[in-house]
Order: sequence, then structure tokens, then C-alpha cells
Amino acid sequence: MVQALLRRCKVCGRYTLRKDKCPQCGGEVENPHPPKYSPDDRYYFYRFCMKVMSGLIQLPDNVRQKVIQRCTSTEGEQEGK
Ligand SMILES: [Zn+2]
Repeated sequence: MVQALLRRCKVCGRYTLRKDKCPQCGGEVENPHPPKYSPDDRYYFYRFCMKVMSGLIQLPDNVRQKVIQRCTSTEGEQEGK
């Protein structure tokens, strides 16, 4: 995805493909979409969840519970949007 390559200048807010600094003002650039919030990651986690729930991935019971809990709470957040 193109968006994953984009950086945003912390100073002027301009989007750029450069990873070091802003081409306009030389300001520091940051990733506007941290990986942990990207849709791709969410779907990856969801798929992981499905495998855990269907038993394709074997996990200790306490870890399994945490994963399922996290998965369902993520769904809840999405609904509230
Ligand atoms: Zn700038």
C-alpha cells in the first residue's frame, strides 16, 4: 500500500515519501499510521485469532483466553466507530 510508504512532517504537516526529513522545510518526519493500527495488522491478528479458536494453533489455555479476549474487544472498538 502506498500509504505505508508515506511520512508526515512534524513541522509543516506535509506528506512525503522521504524517510529522513521533509523536502519542504527539512523538519523531522514521522509515520502517520503506526503499524499496530494499520488494517493489515488487524486482519492478520484476526486471522491468527480464528486459527487459535479453531484449534489450528495450539496455545496454553491462559494465552488462548487472552488472545480471544483481545480479538473480541478489537471488534467492539470497530463497532463504536
Ligand atoms: Zn515540513
